[in-house]
Amino acid sequence: MLYIDEIFGPTVQGEGKYIGAVSVFVRFAKCNMSCMGFAVPYGDDKCGCDSFHAVDTIYKDSWQKFDKADDIIAQLESLSKTSNIVITGGEPLLYWGEPQFQKLLKHFVRLDRRVTIETNGTIDIKLDKKWQRQIIFSIGLKLANSSEPKHRRLNTKALANIISYSDNTYMKFVIDSQKIDDTMCEILQIRECFPDTDIYLMPLGHDSDTVAYHSYDTVALAIKYGFFYSDRLHIRLWNNERKR
Ligand code: SF4
Repeated sequence: MLYIDEIFGPTVQGEGKYIGAVSVFVRFAKCNMSCMGFAVPYGDDKCGCDSFHAVDTIYKDSWQKFDKADDIIAQLESLSKTSNIVITGGEPLLYWGEPQFQKLLKHFVRLDRRVTIETNGTIDIKLDKKWQRQIIFSIGLKLANSSEPKHRRLNTKALANIISYSDNTYMKFVIDSQKIDDTMCEILQIRECFPDTDIYLMPLGHDSDTVAYHSYDTVALAIKYGFFYSDRLHIRLWNNERKR
């Protein structure tokens, strides 16, 4: 069974390598982390990441259940025929072993649509089909600023597996201006392990003012270390509104 928080679009991809590309999104529900360090407030007294609706099981009654990929495909096609299909979450790779998840991905890859999976990169998946090489893995690796313990947020074997198999994978990191030294130390250690993988730095924030605040240091770090800067366009424009 596939649990989905929201299917939406067309809108523009807000971050990463294809920022600005007109896209449709499937946001899968459930995650293997909670990332309370990102401190987005919700509910009465909770905090988490900006996708808390897809992560916290208090919202599970609002998640849609799909047992057929065809029904998801039909919804996406009714929204737009754009070539950019973004599979996000939550953590969508929790569903990797489900035949209907594979059917969904394969359908769009075979149509030569650009399929991006946004993942935290911690799940060791089986990659053995030629068509799977065409999937773009946008790996949002979590650092200490997520408040997740290192053994949960960094799985070098899982990362190496994805990076070695996919033709077009990149990593992205959230930068908090208050924690630059520790953050860069972690990122540079990861770069040593994966020197050929593109790295994008993105400003922390779930509203436009906070993103603006952290963006100056983030740009400076990208310039200093030769990384890419990625804005978070959806938050600049819509302040973490759903279905954006
Ligand atoms: S891994 Fe991503 S979706 Fe999961 S809790 Fe952390 S930021 Fe949210």
